[in-house]
Amino acid sequence: MTAKVETTLRSPQAYGLARRVVDEMEAAGVWPTPQNFELWTHALGDPEGVLAGEIRRMLAAAEPFTEAVTDMLAAEHLPRSRLTEEIRDAGRVLDRELSSVSSVIAEAHRSQAAYGQTLDQAADRIGAAADGDGLQTIVSGLTTATRQVRHETESLERKLEVSTQEVIRLRRHLEMVRRDAMTDALTELANRKAFDEQLAAACAHAGAEGAALTLAVIDIDYFKRFNDTWGHQTGDQVLRYVASVLARVAANPRFAARYGGEEFALIFPYESVAVVEAALENIRTEIASRSLRRRSTNDELGAVTVSAGFAVWRRGESASAFLERADAALYASKRGGRNRVSCAERLPKAA
Ligand code: GH3
Ligand code: MG
Ligand code: MG
Repeated sequence: MTAKVETTLRSPQAYGLARRVVDEMEAAGVWPTPQNFELWTHALGDPEGVLAGEIRRMLAAAEPFTEAVTDMLAAEHLPRSRLTEEIRDAGRVLDRELSSVSSVIAEAHRSQAAYGQTLDQAADRIGAAADGDGLQTIVSGLTTATRQVRHETESLERKLEVSTQEVIRLRRHLEMVRRDAMTDALTELANRKAFDEQLAAACAHAGAEGAALTLAVIDIDYFKRFNDTWGHQTGDQVLRYVASVLARVAANPRFAARYGGEEFALIFPYESVAVVEAALENIRTEIASRSLRRRSTNDELGAVTVSAGFAVWRRGESASAFLERADAALYASKRGGRNRVSCAERLPKAA
């Protein structure tokens, strides 16, 4: 957020700006999510800025503020993204813990060295000691030194325990942040980035094990028309619905992702063509047979349909070539009239 907006948000104009932000979001038909709130605050607080210009241009062109679009606007115009900030915070805590651990270790080093010296001196003196009194003094000196070292060791252990707990907490937190970065916020499926990683790993695994691997891509039919008719907020609800059907089918080791705007992908390790095809057919018929209702008004929306294409991995094939073949099968389904499933291996050669 620019300094100018930061200042406005702490001035007498702050609540006026916040109220205008809510009104403008409602007028633009976007949900008042924290991210949208930040985007619109930024735009209204700095009307001469690039973001404000971009939002004005989109409004004038009646371009929809889909979730994918607002994500992009946020990534481009909100430099202090949450993720960067979390990682910076985590880095700071880790720095602090590491320097406290290293100073504790240095301290331990010093006290161990001093103890070693005491032992050496005692050994010398025992050699020279002639009587019982002399020995007693040496032994009592050693007892004191040992007690002190034990005390220091205990305090060291406590400090290390605190640091360990802090590092464990940090690791859990980073794991959560990482999961967020791999998850599509709208549908809660894995996102494109997670999908790319998973597909590359699945290809490597299938290569190493000689195991079967199938990839399907699924695209909602005529979704632009649906959005134009019912509005993109209702469109977003449909995306969530389709995602929920896929999530149910994609139990481990299957893997489902939202791959693009209204495109999804499913990875099927270890499964035969027949089983994959049956699963895709089930998804297709389940979605096509469900009559949807708009949540806010209960309007009957009818059913949406999806088209799917799938391909079987070929030994040595790259993830991108594999995806391209699954995509070609999807487009065969689209050309063939939509609401169908096609297999790359059965496409006519010319296609
Ligand atoms: P086809 O049957 O050939 O797939 O037609 P289509 O209209 O579904 O395909 P096209 O690629 O022309 O349009 C995709 C539409 O998906 C455009 C956009 O309105 C919509 N869309 C993409 N991402 C989102 C999103 O996050 N939310 C909503 N509501 N709609 C989205
Ligand atoms: Mg589509
Ligand atoms: Mg599409």
